[in-house]
Amino acid sequence: MTVRSLDTDVLIIGGGLAGATLAHTLATTPLSTLIVEARDPAQLEQPSFDGRATALANGSQRILTSLGLWDRIAAHAEPIRTIHISERGRFGAARIHAKEEGVAALGYTVENRILGAAIWEALAAANGFEALAPAKLVTLEVREDGVRAVVETGSFEATVRARVVVAADGANSVVRRMLDIGSREDSYEQTAVILNCTTELAHAGRAFERFTPNGPLAFLPLRDDRMAVVWTMSHEQAGRVSALDDDEIRRELQAAFGHRLGRIDRIGERVAYPLTRVRSDTVSGTRAVLIGSAAVNLHPVAGQGFNLTLRDIASLAESFTETLRADNCLDDPGAADVLQRYDDWRKRDQKKVAALTHGLIRLFGIGALPMAATRGVGLMAFDLVPGAKAELARQTMGLSGKLPRLARGLPLLPDVAAARGTRS
Ligand SMILES: Cc1cc2nc3c(=O)[nH]c(=O)nc-3n(C[C@H](O)[C@H](O)[C@H](O)COP(=O)(O)OP(=O)(O)OC[C@H]3O[C@@H](n4cnc5c(N)ncnc54)[C@H](O)[C@@H]3O)c2cc1C
Repeated sequence: MTVRSLDTDVLIIGGGLAGATLAHTLATTPLSTLIVEARDPAQLEQPSFDGRATALANGSQRILTSLGLWDRIAAHAEPIRTIHISERGRFGAARIHAKEEGVAALGYTVENRILGAAIWEALAAANGFEALAPAKLVTLEVREDGVRAVVETGSFEATVRARVVVAADGANSVVRRMLDIGSREDSYEQTAVILNCTTELAHAGRAFERFTPNGPLAFLPLRDDRMAVVWTMSHEQAGRVSALDDDEIRRELQAAFGHRLGRIDRIGERVAYPLTRVRSDTVSGTRAVLIGSAAVNLHPVAGQGFNLTLRDIASLAESFTETLRADNCLDDPGAADVLQRYDDWRKRDQKKVAALTHGLIRLFGIGALPMAATRGVGLMAFDLVPGAKAELARQTMGLSGKLPRLARGLPLLPDVAAARGTRS
C-alpha cells in the first residue's frame, strides 16, 4: 500500500454534524484542516445525517448564518413560532412564544440529511481543507509539539502530523479511548423512536413537548406541513411499537399526543435510538479537544445536543484564532493555554445545558412520583412568570452567557486579519 505524509494544523476525527461543521468553520481561517471520516458522507447510511430532524435554536441559526451555511439550509427549515409544553393526564401547560421573546422564530427544524448535504457541499468548495473518507484511524500518538496519526483509506496509508487533534467521532469515541480520557456512561433505560407524520390540522409553526408516563414525546414542525416525532419510551415498549403496522402505531401515537393537531394521518418509517448519557471526564487534554457527542451525549428531550455543540465549535474556532485578531499573528492552536482558555470558557454553558436536560428528565421521569403533584401547577406558574420563562427561553434559544462572535452575528475574523495572518 502506498504511504502519504500529510501535515495539517487541525486533525478532526469524525465528519458528522460536529466534525464537518468545525472543519467548515476553520476553513474561514488560515488554519489548515484534515478530516478523517469512517463513512462516505454522500451515502444515506452516514449515521450523523440520517432520518432524524434537528431543532436548531435561534442562536444556532445565527451561527450558521455567520458561517454562510444558512443560505443553503433556509429553504428547507421550518420556523418554530411557539413551544407548547404539557403533561399527559394533568392540568397545566406552558407556552413560549417567539413574539413575546422578541424574535422572529424560537428556532428552526431541519432534517439531518439536509444539514449534512449543506455542510459537506460547502466544504467541497473550501480552501485549506482535506478529507479522507471513508478512512480509518489506526494509531494516534500525542507528543509535546503535536500529534502523529496513521490513517488507512482503501487506497493508501497516511501518516499525519498535526498540532492538535479534535475528537468528533461520536458518543462511542475511539479517539477518547486512544487519548486515555475517561468517561461516565449511564443508560437512560429509554429508546427514542423517530418518525415523521402528517396531521389533519396545520402545525402553524407550533412545536409540542408532551411528558407522558412512558417518557417525553416531541412533535416538531417540518416543511410541507409534516411533523417530526421524537417518542421516548422504555426499550421493551420501543421494540413493540417499532413492530406495529401503520394503523396500530397511529392509534397509539394519537392516544399519547391527543388531538391538538386533529387526526394523525400518514406515518413514515420509524427508527429507534437507544439513549445513553455520556460525559467525558474532560473536554480538552494535551494537544486534544473533544466536541459533540464525544464530549457529552445528552437525552434529546430539550433538543440541546447539536445546539450546544455549535456554540462549542464557534468558541473553539475563536480560541484558536484569538491572537490573529489581537496581534495579527497565528498562535499554535494546540498550545496548552489556548486549549485551557477554551475549556474555561465553555464549562458553564455545558454544565447549564446538562443540568437543564437532566432536570427535565428528573422532574418528568418515570418514578418521579413525589414531584408529580406539583408538576402541573409548576407548568402553569411557569407560564405566568415572565422571568422564569424568559430565562428558559434564552437558554434553549442558545442566547445565554458569554456568546462567541459567530453567535453574535460577527465574522470569526475580519477579512484583513484572515488574509494577512502570520504564524508565530
Ligand atoms: C433522537 C435524537 C434526536 C435529537 N434531536 C436533536 C435536536 O433536536 N437538536 C439538537 O441540537 N440535537 C439533537 N440531537 C443530538 C444531535 O443529534 C447530536 O448532538 C449530534 O448528532 C452529534 O453529532 P456528532 O458529530 O458529535 O456525533 P455523531 O452524529 O455520532 O457523528 C460521529 C461521526 O464520526 C464518525 N466516526 C465514528 N467513529 C469514527 C472513527 N473511528 N474514525 C472516523 N470517523 C468516525 C461517524 O461515522 C460519524 O459521522 C438528537 C439526538 C438524538 C439521538
